[in-house]
Amino acid sequence: MRDRAILVTGGGSGIGRAVVLACAARGARVGVLDIDALSASSVADEALAHGAADALAINCDVSDERAVADAFAACENQLGSPAAVHANAGIEINHPAHLMPYEDWQRVLRINLSGLFLTCREAVRAMLRTGHGGSIVCTSSPSAFTGFSGGGNAAYGSSKGGVSALVRSLAIDYARHGIRVNAVVPGAIDTPMLLTGLAVAEQAAAHDAILRDAREQIPLGRLGRPEEIAAAVTWLLSDDASYVTGSHLVCDGGLTARSANTF
Ligand code: NAD
Repeated sequence: MRDRAILVTGGGSGIGRAVVLACAARGARVGVLDIDALSASSVADEALAHGAADALAINCDVSDERAVADAFAACENQLGSPAAVHANAGIEINHPAHLMPYEDWQRVLRINLSGLFLTCREAVRAMLRTGHGGSIVCTSSPSAFTGFSGGGNAAYGSSKGGVSALVRSLAIDYARHGIRVNAVVPGAIDTPMLLTGLAVAEQAAAHDAILRDAREQIPLGRLGRPEEIAAAVTWLLSDDASYVTGSHLVCDGGLTARSANTF
């Protein structure tokens, strides 16, 4: 990974930030892409402190086609053509379908699925141009495969189901070009996303309740840490995973392996 250009979307927080810092520690040249310019630039600074060969903050909305093309051009100019890309930016908005405003449905699909497609398309174009192949990791979710017991997951689950289908399709299309495409499937990971939509005053109590639920419901008895997902992603991005494509690496403490069905 040393001196390799790596681009991470949603790199300003949570899982993306942990991936940026893990790649930085291996001496990569990291592009930190986020819609939140301040977070992107503070994580880029952290990356340099962690040993990155170079770091570039890129303010970009992954659902904006032009902006994503410009972001890859900026990355290529400063860091070199990205040989590894983590398509990770995402949001979660939950409502039961009959109460779901169409705008919320569209927003989730626009960012989580169409934005991820635009990221992968630019990544593939860049890798085809160099002719050296590369590795793309997309962030999916258990909700691509199982229903959330909490409910209200129609839009998010649909977007992540789409991500998983897209990963398989891209893996097949570009394998002969040396481009590997895989998904990481994080379970419940302790990031700001877990508290999305809650007022600041409610967050501490909600976090305590989530920790309690995690102890009871997740076989490993706790939430995952962003660094634990980053370890899986950096492996998939690296040449150590050279024979892995079209696969899903599930990192969920056993959550999806467990069935609540006792019959
Ligand atoms: P997070 O909220 O900490 O980070 C998400 C980042 O994406 C933020 O920095 C945000 O600004 C950025 N972002 C949002 N919309 C964007 C856009 N349009 N363009 C560019 N950047 C944008 O959340 P996280 O938990 O680190 O989530 C990262 C990914 O992991 C998401 O795709 C999420 O769906 C997935 N995931 C998270 C969990 C979990 O439990 N935390 C579980 C499964 C999957």
